[in-house]
Amino acid sequence: MKPKLCREPIPSGALVDYWTDALEESASAKLEEHLFTCGSCTDRMARVASMARGVGRLGRGGVRIMLTKSLVERLRTDAVRVRSYTIDTGGSVSCTVAPEDELCVTTLRADLREVGRLDLEVLGEGGQVLSLAEDVPFDRERGEVLVGDSCAFLRTLPALGYVLRLTAMDAAAPRLVGEYRMLHRPWPG
Ligand SMILES: [Zn+2]
Repeated sequence: MKPKLCREPIPSGALVDYWTDALEESASAKLEEHLFTCGSCTDRMARVASMARGVGRLGRGGVRIMLTKSLVERLRTDAVRVRSYTIDTGGSVSCTVAPEDELCVTTLRADLREVGRLDLEVLGEGGQVLSLAEDVPFDRERGEVLVGDSCAFLRTLPALGYVLRLTAMDAAAPRLVGEYRMLHRPWPG
C-alpha cells in the first residue's frame, strides 16, 4: 500500500535530528505525533534509520552518528543540506556550520586494509577522552570512516578544538590507526 502524500512533510533535516537525538523534547514530541498519523513521513523516517549501520550516540563529545556512503547520498537526494570535510591521517581541518546546513559529514581517511574492528574516540583539547564508540562501521576498500554531526548540535558549540582518534582493536594490543584534529568555529556571519 502506497501511503498518501503528506501535505506538510517534516523537513528531512528534522528527521535526521530526531533520529540522532538532537531535537528538543517538545519538538520531538510534536514530530512523533505527526509520525503517528502520517504514513508518508514515517516511510521517510524509516529510510533514514534503515540505511545507517552501527548508530552510536556519543553524548556530548561532538560526534553523533556513524554514517555510510549510501546514507549520505540518499540524504543529499532527499535535499538535506550536507556540509562535508575530509581529513587524512594526522591532518587537521577548520570547521564551522552555516545557518542553512543540516548535517555535517566528516570523512576520516586511513589505511584500513588490515583492520577488523575499529574504535573511535573523541578527545578534548587536554587529551581527555570525551567519548568512545566501539566497533564503528568503516569502508575497508575506500579507507574511509564517515562521522556525522547534527548541525543543530554543532551550532550550540563555542570555538573549540578536539581530536578524533581511530584505533584498531584486532591484535592483543590496540593499534593507533589515525588522529584527526578538528578546529571548530561558530559561523562568522
Ligand atoms: Zn507527514
